[in-house]
Order: sequence, then structure tokens, then C-alpha cells
Amino acid sequence: MSNPVPDTPATAGSLIGQIRDAVMSRQRFLITSHSRPDGDSIGSQLAMAFALDALGKQSRIINADRAPEHYYEFPGLDRIEITTDVPGDAAADAVIVMECGDLARTGVRGFEGRYIINIDHHAGNRMYGAINWFDESAAACGEMVYDVIGALGVPMSPEIATHIYLAILTDTGSFHHSNITPRTFEICRQTVEAGVNPAIMARRVYDSNSFGKLKLIGALLDQMLLVDEGRLAIMRMDDAMLEACGCTNNDTEGIINLPLTAREIQAVVFFKTSGADGVRVSMRSKYDVDVRMVASAFGGGGHKNAAGFTVPDRLSDIQDRVVERLIRAVHEGLRTRPKG
Ligand code: 5GP
Ligand code: MN
Repeated sequence: MSNPVPDTPATAGSLIGQIRDAVMSRQRFLITSHSRPDGDSIGSQLAMAFALDALGKQSRIINADRAPEHYYEFPGLDRIEITTDVPGDAAADAVIVMECGDLARTGVRGFEGRYIINIDHHAGNRMYGAINWFDESAAACGEMVYDVIGALGVPMSPEIATHIYLAILTDTGSFHHSNITPRTFEICRQTVEAGVNPAIMARRVYDSNSFGKLKLIGALLDQMLLVDEGRLAIMRMDDAMLEACGCTNNDTEGIINLPLTAREIQAVVFFKTSGADGVRVSMRSKYDVDVRMVASAFGGGGHKNAAGFTVPDRLSDIQDRVVERLIRAVHEGLRTRPKG
């Protein structure tokens, strides 16, 4: 792979250099990311693992949760070990943590006190590593991993390219979010040159639904509520709904984006009470509507156009407060919405 593309933030240079030196001087790595992994966490971790392979280094990938089913078509998914405690035999010289604002986001115990390289693009990163590189301007953590791999001098293999593209494709909401830059496309251009087929990638990620998931989509959209004159959509899902459609919690990826295909809808909130205790809340928005601020108010995080949080409360205790804050965010965002 050539040098990092021209737009790499200048301040990042020394941190990337530190990461390169830390990696080059070590041999055994653990790689991890956040619980309930998404395309960016999977792609960032596997791109890094394949790069470490190319350098003749050892790595183990440790995640709290399995990736959604359709990601298993991508190379190296079988390398991911699913556990909530670092295995006793996992000796390592460094842990590379990606996509995590704090270490607890991994959902895995046992990384504390180790030599940590923290690579993230979420605002408010807690700087818990020996090296902390976080860049809010990156559209995906995969963009940062691209820079690290370039600094390590590892060529862009088809596997690395696939995972970098997967990270960017998914974390930009398939090129919908407002944090996309020329750099995003330059990196994607290089991945395509290295063998990525964007049509296959898009079909695998977005067109791999089961019939049950289509039924679930129907049920969720049918019961969707619209408030604030249709500017905010509310979806709710519980165990009974999942069961009726023959689905599991792992089948819900991407559904939250569907309401945004309606012109009027500026933001979506998806309340899930299925599975664990409490409520898992996901939010998506268009343009300048900032759902991260809403997530932060409830102890979560994310990005302007995609954020989430989990609370132990009952849905009826929080729904109104979340909706009220979202309506405010919608109105605020509409004031600065770009023209065109
Ligand atoms: P999703 O709705 O797909 O679960 O998450 C959307 C975005 O918000 C992702 O970037 C994810 O990392 C972030 N996010 C979701 N839940 C949480 C949370 O509980 N805490 C933090 N800090 N970020 C979250
Ligand atoms: Mn991400």
C-alpha cells in the first residue's frame, strides 16, 4: 500500500508513528472491539489481524459477542474468539482496542493493566491506553486502521482491503452520514483497486436478510409511530414480536435506517426490550440532527448521525424523555441543515 492518503490529519502523524513503533517492537497481540460488534468493529479488527499476519506477528481476536450472521461470509471471521473473560492462556505484549470510548465497551474482562493501543473515532474517548489515537473526523475506525497498516508498510491484500471497505461501507451508513470526506473515497478507491467488488460487498451486507427478517421489518414499520409532524419515527420491539417472526436479536441490524428513507423523517429511535433486562436504544438521523448528544444524556455515545445507549429502566419510564430530547435535536439540526 502507498503512503497514507494526502488528507491524513497532520497531528495524527506522531501518534501513528508511535503505534507503528509499538507494534514493530512487539510480537504477540490481542485485538478487541466493542460488544455487539458492527461492520466497523469487525472490519477494523480483521484488517489489523491480517496486517499483523503479514508482519509475521501473532494475534488473537477476543470479542464479547458474535457478529451478525451475514458477516461470517467475510474472510477470517472464524478467528474471532467469543468470551467475556480474556482466556488464561492469552499471553500478549499488547492489546489493540478499536472503536471503544472506554475499556468497559469491550464487554470483556481482563484487558485492564495491559499495554493498550487505543484506536477510536468516537467523541469523548477516555484515553485509557498507553497510546491513544482518536480522531473524531474519521468516518470509520477502518479509515484509521488503513493509516496504521500503511505506516507498518503492509501492502493492501484482498483480505485487508475487504475489511477496510466493510468498515467504511457500514459505518457511513452505506455512504449516507455527514462525516464522509474525499479521504473516505480515496481509501475506498484503493480497496477496489486491491480487489474489492463493491456490488458483492453491498449485496452481502444489505441483501442477506432472512424471510423472517422481512416479516419483522413489516411488523416494525406497521407499528411505527410518527411524531412532530412526521419528523421523528419511533419503533419498538419486544421478545413477542421477534418470536412471531422467527427472529433473534441478531436479525435487527440495519432496520433502523429504513424510516429515514421517508423524505419527512429526520430522525429515528428504535427501542428494544427483547433479550436482556432494560431497554436498548438506537438512534439515527439525517444531516445536522445530532443524536449523539441525546445518547450522551442517557450515558451512551456514538456519532452525530448514529448513536445508542442502554438503560436498566422500563420503556415506559424513559420513552417520553428520549422522544422529547430527540424532537429538540431535530429542531436544532434543521436550523443548520445544508442546502441542496
Ligand atoms: P447502534 O445503534 O448501531 O448500536 O450504535 C450506533 C453508534 O452508537 C455506534 O457508533 C456505537 O458505537 C454507538 N453506541 C451504541 N451504543 C452505545 C453505548 O451504549 N455507549 C456508547 N458509548 N456508544 C454507543
Ligand atoms: Mn465506528
